[in-house]
Amino acid sequence: MRPRPSWGWQDAAACRGEDLVLFFGPDGERQPEREIRERKAKEICGACPVRTECLDYAISRPEKYGTWGGLNEDERASERRRRMRRANAA
Ligand code: SF4
Repeated sequence: MRPRPSWGWQDAAACRGEDLVLFFGPDGERQPEREIRERKAKEICGACPVRTECLDYAISRPEKYGTWGGLNEDERASERRRRMRRANAA
């Protein structure tokens, strides 16, 4: 059983009060719009004081969608694999 997540870090999140659509996107979003939206979301993440906690949370859970810790879904999947390879090599 996984430990219960701690959500305390969210109190300091730079995205508090932001429109969730900026981080998760609207239905039917096309790639050019997605890239623009993700860039804006990542700018907010880039200045977020709890980016590390956010990314660690999203990497450790099956968070399939959205921008977390400055990474989109594909980037998180790559980071998850990278961390697993590093853990297996240790
Ligand atoms: S890193 Fe981004 S998504 Fe995570 S809490 Fe900060 S602003 Fe929100």
